[in-house]
Amino acid sequence: MSPQYIKAQANMKPGVITSSGFLGDDERPILDIISHDEETMRKLNLDFAEVAEAMHRIMTEGLKGLGEPITVDEVLLVQVNDARGFLPCPFEDGIFRKTNVAARLASTGRLLLYSDLSLHLFEKHHFLQGRGSPFRLEPEVLKEVLRL
Ligand SMILES: [Zn+2]
Repeated sequence: MSPQYIKAQANMKPGVITSSGFLGDDERPILDIISHDEETMRKLNLDFAEVAEAMHRIMTEGLKGLGEPITVDEVLLVQVNDARGFLPCPFEDGIFRKTNVAARLASTGRLLLYSDLSLHLFEKHHFLQGRGSPFRLEPEVLKEVLRL
C-alpha cells in the first residue's frame, strides 16, 4: 500500500480519531477491504455516487426533524443527531461534523446507520469500514434501505 493508505490505516485504529476506530475486528489491509466492497457494490448494481447522493438527501431531510424522528420518502423513519464538534478523516483530507443518521425502513425494520464522516469515507474513498465496525456500511443494507 502507498504511504497515504498506511497512514490512514494507522489513523483508523481505536482511540486515534474515535474510541472504537473504523476497522472493527477486520485485520485486512484497507485496500483489500475497499476492493472487496467495490466488487460487492458492482454485483449488487450499486453506484457509489448514486448511493452517496441518496444518503446526503436523507441526511438533509432528516435534519428538519431537529433531533426527532421524521418520515422521509413516506417509507423511512429518519432521526438525525447533530452533536457538537468535528472529526477528521483518517485520510487527512478534511474534517466533518459529528452528525449521525439512523434511517429505518418501515416495511422491514432494516436500519441504516451512518455519520457525516462515514458518508465521506464511502463517497470519496470507497471505504465502507472494517467488519465489526459500528458504522460499517453493508452494501446489502444500503440497497434495501435506499431502495436502489
Ligand atoms: Zn477523506
